[in-house]
Amino acid sequence: MRTPLVAGNWKMYKSVADARHLVSELVPGLQAVQGVEKVIAPPYTALLAVAALLEGTDIGLGAQNMHWELSGAYTGEISPAMVAELCHYVILGHSERRKFFGETDAGVNRKIQAALAQGLVPIVCVGETLEEYESGRTAEIVSSQIRLGFAGLNEYLDVTNAGSLVVAYEPVWAIGTGKPSTAAGAAAVVADIIRPALAEPFGEGFASSVRVLYGGSVTGENAAEFFGEEEIDGALVGGASLKVADFVKIVQSAAA
Ligand code: PEP
Repeated sequence: MRTPLVAGNWKMYKSVADARHLVSELVPGLQAVQGVEKVIAPPYTALLAVAALLEGTDIGLGAQNMHWELSGAYTGEISPAMVAELCHYVILGHSERRKFFGETDAGVNRKIQAALAQGLVPIVCVGETLEEYESGRTAEIVSSQIRLGFAGLNEYLDVTNAGSLVVAYEPVWAIGTGKPSTAAGAAAVVADIIRPALAEPFGEGFASSVRVLYGGSVTGENAAEFFGEEEIDGALVGGASLKVADFVKIVQSAAA
């Protein structure tokens, strides 16, 4: 049984004061839902304030990125050890990091390794661009992101610890566009591309136990369709995670 997980990626939104306000409004609704792992990933600057508000709740905290080194002369970066002081989860390889900050599969690979070594649960994003989708290259791109992103991690990942990793299928053309994938289309990518690509290095048992989320224009209205698919174990939510009623409804749909 894979426990559903819903994570809210706040991106570069919310001051500390606004984050406090949003979390205090979210907590009662999220706490009322059982059987779903709930995660909030605010900007770094709000992590400490949000961590304090989440203490004693069953809502997890995540960072949106991190460096792969534990410490060093990397101005402007945050290390895995620093993230692990406050968070249990970290989003890695988001398409906005790949697009705007030049993140490569090799860099994502180093970050996944560093996160696992630190006991963090990485939520690793993969997905094809619109051009790749339209030219029928989804399988090639997504399987390559997994092959390179997860290279050499056998020491950390096997059937006994499939819960220590989460993968998010996020077609880039669906992120922030209001044009989600179809639920069946996303489920097919998870079943036919992502799980087989994970089975190659880590075995069938791992691939069928690891949670794979869908992300891309998920809302309170459409979430149930995605969660109705056996292959989809939850959602990584951007825009709708900033709206209390929407995010709570998405989490409720995952429980149902
Ligand atoms: C995301 O940022 O990971 C995302 C899925 O964004 P949105 O839900 O806004 O499409």
